[in-house]
Amino acid sequence: MENPDQNNKNKPGKDTSSSSQKDGLETSINPRYRRQKRYSPDIEEYVEGISSGNRTMLSQAITLIENSNPDHRESGQKILEECMGATGNSLRIGITGVPGVGKSTFIESFGTHILEEGHRLAVLAVDPSSSRSKGSILGDKTRMQTLANHPDTFIRPSPASGALGGVAHTTRESMLLCEAAGFDIILIETIGVGQSETAVHSMVDFFLLLMLAGAGDELQGIKRGIMEMADLIAINKSDQENIHAAKKARIEYENALSILARDSPARKPSVLTCSATEGTGISEIWNKIKRSAEQSKESSRFSARRSEQASWWMHETLNRQLKDRFYNHPEVRNKIKDFERKVKRGEVSPFRAAEELLKII
Ligand code: GDP
Repeated sequence: MENPDQNNKNKPGKDTSSSSQKDGLETSINPRYRRQKRYSPDIEEYVEGISSGNRTMLSQAITLIENSNPDHRESGQKILEECMGATGNSLRIGITGVPGVGKSTFIESFGTHILEEGHRLAVLAVDPSSSRSKGSILGDKTRMQTLANHPDTFIRPSPASGALGGVAHTTRESMLLCEAAGFDIILIETIGVGQSETAVHSMVDFFLLLMLAGAGDELQGIKRGIMEMADLIAINKSDQENIHAAKKARIEYENALSILARDSPARKPSVLTCSATEGTGISEIWNKIKRSAEQSKESSRFSARRSEQASWWMHETLNRQLKDRFYNHPEVRNKIKDFERKVKRGEVSPFRAAEELLKII
């Protein structure tokens, strides 16, 4: 598995400026540290490295994109801009499902199957790990050991923290960098309980929902909206004594989806069963995804969906940045508490207060 650069968070891109006094101190403590720190690739080297499929360079460029330091982020953006011409040539697959449904196990099995066909696979995650009960998503290398050790795979854990909107945004940019590095299948994992599904749905060509048999939708925490977004539902853990229940669940879901998709039968997702641990049903799922991608490319739905997504991301970025700029504006920060007090005391209406604050920017 790639080093997720946990120790590299503050490594600058182009910007090599650092306090010489500080460096001097570091040198006196450990001369090797300084030597390591002094070398940092420039934008061109990053771009070259990424386009030649260098996973370390790719990983470091993603770290720049995720960085909270604006200079590093700026370097990351420059790298991304230079790479844009080489993006778009992958099949982007979103995988969602509640914790415990078997996402990591499925990705391990599914990914191994895909690699056997000669593809290069990148696995990314959307949910900030701080919001997960089990700690860092994909953070535990043992969860996908076969994939992690495969030379044609790149696995990137979700950023450790950050608001969902920002994390989804950087995941999308990481995905583009992975494409520039020649990864032609991208899997994006997310837990199917929050709002991240909309963001993931807006960055993938195919959305796969993993479910379990014998647990009601409520129990699985899956919202109806997520089911409607899915292109394929796979009932996992269809093995041993669970096979019968999985088959039954498949029929039930198919019936439920027929009703949901009454108005647009073409949008009706398929339902399949699989066992991630035994590897059964995995090739059927992959074939289904491939066929669906081929069909949507033939009918130009594929490019239409991507165009729609690009526009969605523009609006999403605008919304997020307008909000950030507003709330970070010094005058707004100065006055907002005062307005809040006045609104609470009924001295000014919420509408008027908002108007006054908006006038500032
Ligand atoms: P995640 O939280 O969705 O990533 O789920 P994991 O991949 O960590 O799997 C949760 C548990 O379910 C683990 O103990 C897995 O071994 C088990 N599991 C995953 N897939 C299957 C499967 O197809 N069949 C069975 N019987 N167990 C599975």
